[in-house]
Order: sequence, then C-alpha cells, then structure tokens
Amino acid sequence: MTLVMKFGGTSVGSADAIRSTAELILNSKQEWGNVVVVASGMGSKPIKVTDLLLDGAYAAANDDEETYKAYAKQMRRIHYTAIDGLLSPDRERQAILADNERFIGRYEALCQAVFVLGELTPRALDAIAGMGEQMSVRILAAYLRELGHDAEAVDATEIVVTDSHFQAAAPLFDQTTEKTQAHLLPILERGGIPIVTGFIGADEHGVTTTLGRGGSDYSGAILGQALQADEVWIWTDVDGVMTADPRIAPNARSIPTLTYREVSELAFYGAKVLHPKTMRPVVEHNIPLRIKNTFNPDHPGTVIVSHSETPNGFLKAVTAIKDHSLITVEGKGMMGVPGIAARTFGAVARSGVSVLLISQASSEQSICFATPADSAETVISGLQIEFAVEIAQRDIDRVWAISPVSIVTAVSAGIRGTPGIAGKLFTAVGDNGVNIIAIAQGSSECGISIVVDGDDTAKAVAAVHELIVAHL
Ligand code: ASP
Ligand code: MG
Repeated sequence: MTLVMKFGGTSVGSADAIRSTAELILNSKQEWGNVVVVASGMGSKPIKVTDLLLDGAYAAANDDEETYKAYAKQMRRIHYTAIDGLLSPDRERQAILADNERFIGRYEALCQAVFVLGELTPRALDAIAGMGEQMSVRILAAYLRELGHDAEAVDATEIVVTDSHFQAAAPLFDQTTEKTQAHLLPILERGGIPIVTGFIGADEHGVTTTLGRGGSDYSGAILGQALQADEVWIWTDVDGVMTADPRIAPNARSIPTLTYREVSELAFYGAKVLHPKTMRPVVEHNIPLRIKNTFNPDHPGTVIVSHSETPNGFLKAVTAIKDHSLITVEGKGMMGVPGIAARTFGAVARSGVSVLLISQASSEQSICFATPADSAETVISGLQIEFAVEIAQRDIDRVWAISPVSIVTAVSAGIRGTPGIAGKLFTAVGDNGVNIIAIAQGSSECGISIVVDGDDTAKAVAAVHELIVAHL
C-alpha cells in the first residue's frame, strides 16, 4: 500500500516539530509499507521561510539592499537551530549545514543581482521561492537517516514537470507520472522514504517553477496521482474540515466524509481548507484525500471522496464570506427585455470583478449579485455607463448596493432531492432575528446561500450550525 503524506510549514517549523513529524512518518510507514512525504518550507507562525525569501527579493528589486540580508540571517538562524537540534556533529550535521548554506548563499547572490539590475522576473521569483522546501526536505531526510531509516531528499524539479507559467505553473501529468515513477519507485522498492519538496516543479527545459502559494497540498495530490497511491493525507492543525468555524460555533465538529463538490462549494465561499487545485488529481482517480491533525494524529480527520451518500440527508457544514456588496439593477422596463442580464454581467466582467452569487426574481424587475465590497463602486459606475440610455428613459430605475453583506452558505450533496431543507434553514435564521436579504441555490443542489447584513454574520452562521448539530 502506498500513502502520500504532505506536511505544512509548521510541521517542519522547528527541531521539535520535525521530531513529531518523523514519528508520524515512521508510524505510517509501518502500517502502509510505502510512504512518500511531501514537505513545505519551514514556517512557524508568524514567520514563514517562503515569505522571507519572497519579501527579501521584492525589497531588493525596490532598491533595498538591507532587507534580504537581514532575512538571510534570519533564515540561517531558523535552519541552523533546527539542524543543531536534530543532527549530531559526528554524523550529518556538517554536511546538511553546508547544504543549507549553499541555498542561502545562492539566495543572497540572486537578490544581489536583483538589487543591481532593479528587475525581478517571475522566473527569478520561482527560483528563489522554492529554496525553503529545498532546505527543509534535506533536514527532515537527514534526521530520519539519523534515526536509522533510509530516507532521501528529492527535489520536485526532478519529477514534477510543469508548463512555463512561472508562479502558477500547471503540471504536465504524463511526463510527471513517468519521471515520478522512475525516480521514486526504486527508493520505495529498497524500503526507503522519499522526502519530496512541495510547491516546486520544473518546466520542460528544467527551469524551476512553482505551483502558486500554498501549492504544497497540490504537490501531494500530484504525486498521489502519479504513483496511484492508495490515499493522500494532508496534515494540518485541525481535525479535518469542521461543520463551522470554531471561532463562531464553539461546538463545531469534524466532518467524517465530504465529496469533492461539497468541498469546492465550501472553499468557494471562504472556508480555507486546501489549495483549490488539490482535489482534482486524486478524486478523479478515486484516491481518497484525507485531512488530518498533527496534534491529534489518532483522529480520522475528514476524507474527501468523489461520491458518497449523505448519511442523514441533511446539511453538513456552514461557512460565511464577509465584506461583500449586494448590487441590484432594478427597473420596471427590464421585464421581458432580452439581454439585460448579459449586459449586466458583461459590464461587471469588464470591470475585472468576479461575482460570487446571482439571484433574479421571476418578475424580472431586478437582478442582484454579490461582489467584493471594495469593488462595488467600480461595478456600479460601469453599470451606469452600460445602461445610460435605459436609465435616462427610466426603463432602469436605479443601480445600487447594500454594503457590507455576508454570504452564508450551507453545504451538502444531500440537499439534492431532500425536500424541506431550505425551509428549515430559513426558519432557523429567521427565528434568530436575522433578516435574509437574498437567496440563491445553484442547480447542483450542493449548497444554499443566503445574503445577510454584515453585522448578522455570526448570528446567521450560529443559527444554521445549531440546525446542523441538531440533525447529527
Ligand atoms: N511554501 C509555499 C508557500 O508558502 C507552499 C506551501 O507551503 O504550501 O506558499
Ligand atoms: Mg497550506
């Protein structure tokens, strides 16, 4: 059995964190046989090595020669402290220190070049950003070897082939599969543990690319697909996906099973679960994707699968996205006139603003939609220009916004075909004194969204959450 496990920055953020991570890896290895590890660059809140790398480079491009030097010092401290705490001087300590120093030295040289040229290309940014991962995997692998296990640090530049879209590269799956298998299977066959850098890859010319910020989750999924793993685990600091944000609903619980669509809906409406592209490669290949808690490793967490029955046919989770505006285009002359909706959203698109929710009453006298609050003004002026003639003729009475509003979304694939869920939700929200400004349900029937006044967000989420808990 093959398990791919991804560890984030905090899991490799210090000598202590690396010790617990190593224990989790070794326990899983005993249970699964083949374990492939993907790791992020070191990061213990609030300092992430990836941020230091990038911020220092940006500063250098802005004529600042001090910041990257200070950050290089800080990175030396972070990495060398971990190395000293984990590796003994008579074994690999010197070699790994030298390895890490090579990257930090290269970082300084690149930033110096950026400073002199005053230019920072996306390509240079990717070469710089991935060094955090390249350092952390070397430390983790050496520590596992120190514990007497066969572990090998692998740069994903050797196995993950991407296009040349620097900073948001897309993997080329055929080539990636071939290289990953060629490189990692021999390590697994000899009983070793590959420790692979998350976040990075290389294009067809071998130039380093990155998958975008937070992309290590995606790296885990890509390797899971390439190796046809039995499961992919993403380790975080919570027991999987929760029924609600525990800061709003203290009795929030972990959800045992979610489908791909449910997670997408949750993520779309603001729940920070996974890097958004992570699910596709695995779920499409029927590889379960599990989110687990490093601080509570015995908890099963949440498993994401392609299809599953909703055991109670009820809602599973509620989330909210804040700081939006509800913009309404309203007028008696809109009725029966084709093209108003197309022109409305055409104008919004030209403003470069994305729309999160749309609702139109069947009287066709108004269309409303939600956009981020800080772009409301731009959107409204765009619409006033688009409909200047109709506004002058009073076919459209006004274009206006309610701000700030929140979109509260309750999610479950069980909504499909179960009557009465929406009714219960509206009642629960209404009974708690929250006014619903607008409603939308996509035809995927995977989520119901309501728009409420910004001040009512917590109350609305809590009300829906009580309803979910009552049905568990
Ligand atoms: N280290 C990268 C970042 O901070 C990738 C990741 O951690 O997922 O964005
Ligand atoms: Mg992350």
